[in-house]
Amino acid sequence: MRRHGMFPAPVPDQDRRPIRRQTVRRVIGTFRPYRGKVAWVGLAIVVTSGLGVVNPLLIKRIFDHALFGNPPGQCDGGACPNLHTLYWSVALMVAIPIVTGIIGIGQTYLANLVGLRVMQDFRNALYRHLQFMPLRFFTATRTGEIQSRLANDVGGVQTVVTDTASSILSNVVVITSTVIAMLLLSWQLTVLSLFMVPFFMWLTYKVGKARQKVATVTQQSLADLTSITEETLSVSGILLSKAFGRQRHEIDRFQGENERLTGLQIRQTMIGRSFFAVIGTIFSITPALVYLVAGWVLSGGGAAAAAITGGTIVAFTTLQSRLFFPIGSMLQVSSDVQTSMALFDRIFEYLDMDHDIADAADAVPLPPEQVRGRVQFSDVWFRYETPPEGVPPVSPSDLGDGQRAPREWTLEGVTLDIEPGQLAALVGPSGAGKTTMTYLVPRFYDVQDGAVLIDGVDVRNLKLESLGDLIGMVTQETYLFHTTVRRNLLYGKPDATQEELVAAAKAAFIHDRIMELPEGYDTVVGERGYKLSGGEKQRLAIARVVLKDPRILILDEATSSLDTTSERLVQEALRPLMRGRTTVAIAHRLSTILSADVIFVVDRGKIVERGTHRELIERGGLYARLYEQQFRGGLIEAECEDGVVLSTGEVVRTASGPGEG
Ligand code: ATP
Repeated sequence: MRRHGMFPAPVPDQDRRPIRRQTVRRVIGTFRPYRGKVAWVGLAIVVTSGLGVVNPLLIKRIFDHALFGNPPGQCDGGACPNLHTLYWSVALMVAIPIVTGIIGIGQTYLANLVGLRVMQDFRNALYRHLQFMPLRFFTATRTGEIQSRLANDVGGVQTVVTDTASSILSNVVVITSTVIAMLLLSWQLTVLSLFMVPFFMWLTYKVGKARQKVATVTQQSLADLTSITEETLSVSGILLSKAFGRQRHEIDRFQGENERLTGLQIRQTMIGRSFFAVIGTIFSITPALVYLVAGWVLSGGGAAAAAITGGTIVAFTTLQSRLFFPIGSMLQVSSDVQTSMALFDRIFEYLDMDHDIADAADAVPLPPEQVRGRVQFSDVWFRYETPPEGVPPVSPSDLGDGQRAPREWTLEGVTLDIEPGQLAALVGPSGAGKTTMTYLVPRFYDVQDGAVLIDGVDVRNLKLESLGDLIGMVTQETYLFHTTVRRNLLYGKPDATQEELVAAAKAAFIHDRIMELPEGYDTVVGERGYKLSGGEKQRLAIARVVLKDPRILILDEATSSLDTTSERLVQEALRPLMRGRTTVAIAHRLSTILSADVIFVVDRGKIVERGTHRELIERGGLYARLYEQQFRGGLIEAECEDGVVLSTGEVVRTASGPGEG
């Protein structure tokens, strides 16, 4: 909410709500640590704004007493300056702006310091809070929304101190001190000046409204343009537009919006320009009116005429020019305050959100070296969203042919037991609930009923930090930071030595490839690892988990097909990773399925079959059907402990595995 001249940025409609007393109290509380500095800023504003009336009063003194004060007869031919009065008046007139300037610098420094520190506190508090928000929050919130609160809203609060609050105080002091000084000079001329104020207020209000209207549309247009840019110039966006040959269309769309924005900005500037034209006219006219009324008063004679001297008139016109801008800006105050409070409300809204997945009061740590790695699900019931109350479940009679009732639960009474060191494969149709099951182990979500246990302890009774330490995940989508290979690897173990890094990279069959990169381990992998191939990224992610050396590994195998060599390298990288630790794998590769100690077949949130590959094939149920569908049609081979397995399940012994690259 940067201010443009004397007009604030528009208040979005949803933010035009009454200011809540509770918010104001919290905002004041936010500034409490800086109250000493705030008091100094306040004092500085009062002093500098108040000092502003001294110079016009000195002008009167110079005119009436220093320059033309002495009767002409006392000097040769004309008015004789009173040099003594002139010297100290001029000295004061020079000193006051200098003092005001110096105090102003200190005031700006302190006000900015407080504003920026409060902003820093808010940013830290928000980021800290967001880091511990449950996954549910992130899946339900647009990333842009979170970024906007962290960047724009928090950025906006600085303006509250350095702009809104300061300007309210300074305007009040300027208006009050100016009116008092004007009254001291001449009440008749003051009445004349104040007579102009309502007209000025009306004009400011009208122009402010018009400008705000255009500014709202302009901001929307700017947001649209930004989102077009973000969407189409990201790596994924540009890939899509190139792949579909839509560049021309995107350019046209951008140009159209850009033209609209320019038109709006021109209108916005012109409204401001006409306002300043009117202000300029008023500024020019009012001294003339002051001279006119002064002439009338003087021609009337008497005490009133005696009070109006040349100095009074000059001082008065100077004072008058100080009055209009503060009045205009005070007219915008309520909208300014509303905008600021709306920003605070948006920040507090995030800060007040519950961390519903947090350490229990009696949560215990579980040091990785003491963990055996048994994973159990005991009658687990889970759903992402609780259905709204009063909505009856869909009755079977409402369903069409072949249609199935929507699931009330994502997981329904799941019970399973994975022994330490076992490889358990989760297999099932898309949407069955496999990923959801893996999310419950590290407590990305909490179960609604039943329990997930590690070594017999409910994960809700474990400290989240130690839970994080003992679980490693290799997800389908490999996420790499836009930094060097080394830093990406160190994410798994920040204190790892170079030898450990190399050993992990070798175990994941990625070391040789890293050494081919221009700067080896110090090569920047590019935005989300786009400089690496899909298989290379996966192996880098595997090396990262190798370094972490977790007791329990959760592996969501990528469904996107890699070429045979890459696929084999990834398989080779995974093999040592799985060894010696409990692995829960959402299996899409035949090799994983075949080497699993136990396979759990998941369908519509339930475990419908369990056993080894052979047992399940013999049973001829869902697993056998899925196996047929996925691996039918050719001799798709895969590695298993015993050798190469053909799609039929027949094992053929092999001499050696694939090498790297
Ligand atoms: P796939 O093999 O396609 O990845 P899956 O077996 O891993 O599927 P899940 O991702 O666990 O399936 O999803 C199970 C169900 O839960 C699906 O119907 C899905 O639409 C739903 N679901 C998943 N994530 C969420 C979420 N964040 N909010 C609401 N529903 C969700």
